[in-house]
Amino acid sequence: MIHEIAPRVMHNEFRSQFPLATDYLFYFEGEDVLLFKNGESSTLPTFEKIAADNEGLFPLAHYLFSIDETAFFLTEKKPVALNDSFVMESVRCFRHFAEPWLGFAGATASHLWGWERVNKFCGVCGSKMDRHKKERAFTCSHCENIVYSRIAPVVIVAVNSGDKLLMARNLNNSIQKLFLVSGFVDVGESLEEAVVREVKEEMGIAIKNIRYITSQPWGFSNSLIAGFTAELEGDGTLHIQEDEIAEAAWVERKDIPEYDPSLSISSLLIEMFRKQQL
Ligand SMILES: [Zn+2]
Repeated sequence: MIHEIAPRVMHNEFRSQFPLATDYLFYFEGEDVLLFKNGESSTLPTFEKIAADNEGLFPLAHYLFSIDETAFFLTEKKPVALNDSFVMESVRCFRHFAEPWLGFAGATASHLWGWERVNKFCGVCGSKMDRHKKERAFTCSHCENIVYSRIAPVVIVAVNSGDKLLMARNLNNSIQKLFLVSGFVDVGESLEEAVVREVKEEMGIAIKNIRYITSQPWGFSNSLIAGFTAELEGDGTLHIQEDEIAEAAWVERKDIPEYDPSLSISSLLIEMFRKQQL
């Protein structure tokens, strides 16, 4: 999965530090990120790459996290003019980045950027927010409101009926492949209750024997995704939620194609079912 970058280690505890020339800098505009292009390949820009194109001026940036000894920073000001070397691309590029550990850094940075961009002003009194000096948080100097980084919990479930797996494609998923039922956890419910509700809402069926398998951070939707298995209970006739689901089916184990488990928990769970590991 995207966060499995061993032997590299992410250090996401809060710190204040200055960038080295070899550290990486993130700059986002909406859903796009600044990349350094070298011929056909793109990677994250380092401070020295930006400085070389910027007459040695380092942009105003703050520390986000490190992976091993390499630190990652974020700036809100465009640090270079766009040209053949510096381009903006969709953050979706991080899903299949040439160097997967930098892809994970990108997904995590885009999550933090998504949180920072909506917390410029205090939601209580409307005053300007300041960056907290000791924690990853924003604080209001007027009313002392503190806002910590936010994670939206999501559940995903591999529902089986004997040798068949319930697979589906969301309307908003541009990839023409079947994955699993998933959804955001609602206020006031447990992860297991969210699994039961999502399957009932989206597929119109009941499930039993819900079992937690594993989890993954998924910065693209500001999420932490918890993965489960479950078994069909009763009638397996599907009544799909047509405003959310494009298609759904019970797929025989032998008919499931191979999925690459290196990116998402969805593909991992499908692969585990296909190989009879669930
Ligand atoms: Zn306030």
